Amino acid sequence: MEYKVIYEKNDCISANRCMGIHPELWDKDQDGKAILKKGNLNSQTKKYELAIQEKELPAYKESALICPVFVIDIVELESGKSILNIKPTKTPEKEDVPVLKAHYESRKEWAMDPKGFFTIKPFPEEQLIRARYYGEDYALKIVIEGKNAEEIYNTIVREKLVSTFQHAAYVGCELMKAEIAMKKNLSYVQDDPLP
Ligand code: SF4
Repeated sequence: MEYKVIYEKNDCISANRCMGIHPELWDKDQDGKAILKKGNLNSQTKKYELAIQEKELPAYKESALICPVFVIDIVELESGKSILNIKPTKTPEKEDVPVLKAHYESRKEWAMDPKGFFTIKPFPEEQLIRARYYGEDYALKIVIEGKNAEEIYNTIVREKLVSTFQHAAYVGCELMKAEIAMKKNLSYVQDDPLP
């Protein structure tokens, strides 16, 4: 089967994820937006298009799924139907999969990670965030410092310093709050909402 990659360059926000994961498929334009290598501009739709074979599909699919603004789509060449269906255009009532109402009962839902815990603090003057990792004996084991949440949480996962989904999600949230606080010059207090 053949497919077509369709890329809406106008709506690209230069998040660089597609080219970060697949530099062989994407380039960076002077304005920071992604360029679909070998793609052609469709003058009617103003979107870039590229016909691809089945064996090329996984890499383009990964690029599309990692794009935070869903500007990369893949359709079947023959039918024109999207094989991704990731555009967040449907209202929840129209979703054809279950929709769960998110809720959080209370701190009682929290379970301590047997691996230990983190304290997180941004240092705006150095443009660094430091995550201090304490082991199950409450002793400080490692300090991880980085410029943003993404590089710190990936280091935490690589070093296997979390062992529960809940803890991993919590640390990711707190790191992102710390990054926003640092960039926007806001005060950051772990576990409190941003001002
Ligand atoms: S991931 Fe999406 S938004 Fe980011 S550069 Fe690629 S196309 Fe643009």
